[in-house]
Amino acid sequence: MTTEVKRRLNDGLKIQKEKEIVSTMIRIYCKKKHRQNVLCAECQDLNDYAIHRLSLCPFGEEKTACAKCPIHCYKQDYRQRIKETMRYSGPWMLLYHPIESIRHIPLPGKLRK
Ligand SMILES: [Zn+2]
Repeated sequence: MTTEVKRRLNDGLKIQKEKEIVSTMIRIYCKKKHRQNVLCAECQDLNDYAIHRLSLCPFGEEKTACAKCPIHCYKQDYRQRIKETMRYSGPWMLLYHPIESIRHIPLPGKLRK
């Protein structure tokens, strides 16, 4: 993991957009599930982690949706949490942000790996 530090952080348009989407999904999750108006500590931590992973994504602007990525750079517990968050927020994203959300929603058959 030490090589990550030396890489230039991603700052392309696509990565920026992905960051917005993941933050939006975490916000929806926290608001509806945890009934918070600002992110609770746990969701803030997950948000920071997700943003950081995106900054370091080795694919940069070439990346696909994280659910389809072969690397799975998330640590196990964060991975579980982001999956749960996305599963929960997915339908709301369809409602509020239909275009951006489509490729981020894991298909039902793919959740149980
Ligand atoms: Zn929360």
